[in-house]
Amino acid sequence: MKALKHFTLSWIVIILFIGLLFWFYQLTNSPYERVVEGETITELHPDVQEAVETLIDRADDIDIEVVITDGLRSEEEQDALYARGREDGGNIVTHARAGESYHNYGLAVDYAIRNQEGEIIWDIHYDGNNNGESDWFEVAEIAKDLGFEWGGDFNRFPDYPHLQMTFGLSISELQRGYRPSVEHE
Ligand SMILES: [Zn+2]
Repeated sequence: MKALKHFTLSWIVIILFIGLLFWFYQLTNSPYERVVEGETITELHPDVQEAVETLIDRADDIDIEVVITDGLRSEEEQDALYARGREDGGNIVTHARAGESYHNYGLAVDYAIRNQEGEIIWDIHYDGNNNGESDWFEVAEIAKDLGFEWGGDFNRFPDYPHLQMTFGLSISELQRGYRPSVEHE
């Protein structure tokens, strides 16, 4: 009887140990990292920044001038935006409160186009490079090619200027403190 108990106990220890190894393996290979509380995000994620620069270059190659009108947004800025069309006048511009937008984590940007006259426009039908395709959609295609999700594809509330890179993280995961890892050189 004593021998049997000893045997069972050994197995429990072994199984726990394997479990621990597996958990540690998952942790170290996770694409996410947990951040310390109170960390403030001060800039776009480097991968997003790089993709934005490539997007501007590639659009320029086909004679489209992309203008980035918004990037990282603080929680205060997000709340101010949310108030528009609600407590404040005007039209509703967002359905996201502070912490509910990829902009709040440096993972989203908004774009517009500068036309031949030098004005910034939000006309999704404008075809300034005269190739029979809307410049706006051409930019969206390049962006998707670079790994962005395009707001124009959102079913519920299409958001044509919006581009985001989620790294597989949901808003609720971001709110719980998960962040995409950053490659350190
Ligand atoms: Zn946006």
